Amino acid sequence: MSTNSMYAQMGVSDKVLAFGEKVLEELRGQFSRIDAIAEHNQAKVIAAMQENNLAARHFNLSTGYGYDDEGRDNLENVYASVFHTEAALVRPQITCGTHALTLALSANLLPGDELLSPVGAPYDTLEGVIGIRPTVGSLAEYGVTYRQADLLPDGTFDYEAIGKAINEKTKLITIQRSKGYATRPSFSVAQIGELIAFCKQCKPDVICMVDNCYGEFVEELEPSDVGADMVVGSLIKNPGGGLAPTGGYIAGRKDLIERCGYRLTAPGLGREVGSNQGILTSFYQGLFLAPTVVSGAVKGAVFAAACYEKLGFRVIPASSEIRRDIIQAVELGSAEGMVAFCKGIQAAAPVDSYVTPIPAPMPGYESDVIMAAGAFVQGSSIELSADGPIRPPYAVYFQGGLTWYHAKLGILMSLQKMLEAGLIEL
Ligand SMILES: *Cc1c(COP(=O)(O)O)cnc(C)c1O
Repeated sequence: MSTNSMYAQMGVSDKVLAFGEKVLEELRGQFSRIDAIAEHNQAKVIAAMQENNLAARHFNLSTGYGYDDEGRDNLENVYASVFHTEAALVRPQITCGTHALTLALSANLLPGDELLSPVGAPYDTLEGVIGIRPTVGSLAEYGVTYRQADLLPDGTFDYEAIGKAINEKTKLITIQRSKGYATRPSFSVAQIGELIAFCKQCKPDVICMVDNCYGEFVEELEPSDVGADMVVGSLIKNPGGGLAPTGGYIAGRKDLIERCGYRLTAPGLGREVGSNQGILTSFYQGLFLAPTVVSGAVKGAVFAAACYEKLGFRVIPASSEIRRDIIQAVELGSAEGMVAFCKGIQAAAPVDSYVTPIPAPMPGYESDVIMAAGAFVQGSSIELSADGPIRPPYAVYFQGGLTWYHAKLGILMSLQKMLEAGLIEL
């Protein structure tokens, strides 16, 4: 059977296929740039593993307290080498990205300190963590205040407002690399470097933390290469390479990471405890695959942008733009559009392809959210997924794909469902 009839059997019509192939022809330049970045990052990861003499004994299981867990400690050294930092905390006990960010913040902010976001509102779940939305256990409850400098209308940093917002209480500055559920642009590592330099000029001892979710390995440099004191992310996103079944990381300055260890476990115990329960091979191997996996996801994002752009939808970023993260926002303009798009992504999944996504409330999010994912790891968004809050401008955020071919199938299926719902014409 030819590949095309294979696709036809899965429900992708000739019309949709022909449209997709035509769009692809124009993306060769973008794709070769993406491949070059993956090659660089693959070398970086291998070098980090070699530098730390990674060996079979590092995959051993530990239980109980996890004292003398060489594999766990070495994994943290490998992460520190990849991110060019003094130390790292990489643990299965960190349950998600929000948890990793909460750790980094609560470990390094004390009562009376102030947290500043110079890039506008943070990711939805952090509103609860910070206490922007009153929440039990928030930083606000512990006497940590919060200030925010919004971006300028064109999505750039408002240096004047940031300079004014930094004061004697400002202890930590949180910079979100990826747009998350906003329609602002995501920042390049170079832009983040400029922002950090400005903040440190205003206050040399201020801690600069970057929420690195969705950004890892999209560029050759990471924010820790341009002055970030801590970078934070989730292992069921980019750096887990699709194999890590859970976990989060914080890489950065040794004194800050030590405090994160004390907050994760207990003061006095810190990073000395925490058993790996046999999970380490997936962490190491996932990190090894991550540069390639991320490049497939980025190709999927570019392809989605190019397809929907051609159909007249607003897409962020545009297909020609250099990528800063793996997220592609497509403004579909209606709840029906979001549902049809997500149905297509779901129908293309290797797991749960028979279920129909519908909008529903989600803990931590203010409006109903629709999510499409058929993942091997629950909620993993390095695997092909699409989601978005049901609110204007009705944008779906499309991300992931462990392989480029799966991402391509997902986008073709989304076009098919849009076509069948009468929402597009080809
Ligand atoms: C995903 C994400 C988070 C939160 O991560 P979870 O693992 O969903 O808790 C935080 N910030 C950004 C920018 C993200 O993309």
